Amino acid sequence: MSFSVEQRGNQNSLGYRLFFKNAEGKYISPFHDIPMYADKGQNIFHMVVEVPRWTNAKMEIATKDLLNPIKQDVKKGKLRYVANVFPHKGYIWNYGAIPQTWEDPAHKDGDTGCCGDNDPIDVCEIGSKVCSRGDVIKVKVLGILAMIDEGETDWKVIAINVDDPEASEFNNISDVRRLKPGYLEATVDWFRRYKVPDGKPENQFAFNEEFKDKDFAIEVIKSTHNFWNALISQKVNAGELNCKNTCVSAGNSPFCCSADEATAAVGETFPRGKEEPVPSSVDKWFYYEKK
Ligand SMILES: [Mg+2]
Repeated sequence: MSFSVEQRGNQNSLGYRLFFKNAEGKYISPFHDIPMYADKGQNIFHMVVEVPRWTNAKMEIATKDLLNPIKQDVKKGKLRYVANVFPHKGYIWNYGAIPQTWEDPAHKDGDTGCCGDNDPIDVCEIGSKVCSRGDVIKVKVLGILAMIDEGETDWKVIAINVDDPEASEFNNISDVRRLKPGYLEATVDWFRRYKVPDGKPENQFAFNEEFKDKDFAIEVIKSTHNFWNALISQKVNAGELNCKNTCVSAGNSPFCCSADEATAAVGETFPRGKEEPVPSSVDKWFYYEKK
């Protein structure tokens, strides 16, 4: 299964969009149309890369837009970049989401006591390659961290690209601790503090800030897939989410998007233009004392 992206608008501008196509060149939604599993028997999942490692632009699947292209988060009319909190520079993993999953905001998690954040489940990919925005990679799940962001459950799956040269050595969260010493601690530190320069409180974590293992992670992912299934089959209210798709829903579903409708939606966005500069303020390094 292969996928490609089509850029619209200018990179680093408000109009930038990255649309997805399948192998037949048909527009698809990366949220709904890309299968969660790359290989169900082997527990290999697809991951949509939203943010390549070392970059700062907070790019994400636009869950409320038709075809759910990747676009940059906007706050108070300005493009959002994550701050570099010393010693980190940008995101310290390839960061993205597992398609066909949803953290239901109406479901209170039994472990965290908090409801979902209304997004597909997040993934931190720890392999050595710096991926490209919009890559759809196959990952092996290794563990999971239960972040609590302003009262919402926001799971962070830890995974490795199956194509990583060292992938065979990583089979559980303990392998990350052993083979990449400090990376898990850095991951907690990153998530705890990354919004502090923007005036937000530190994030909290369930389970005494400990990572859960592979089996636990896979169960959480499966539960978010069940929530997505309820969403796409109209068993729950989608709210503002755009559930239109071109491959999953039957023709009689209100979520079924025709090829013509998809092409028209892409055509309404800005044509691809030249890249705009990233403001130099994005390189600023923030220091503040850890508690
Ligand atoms: Mg999330």
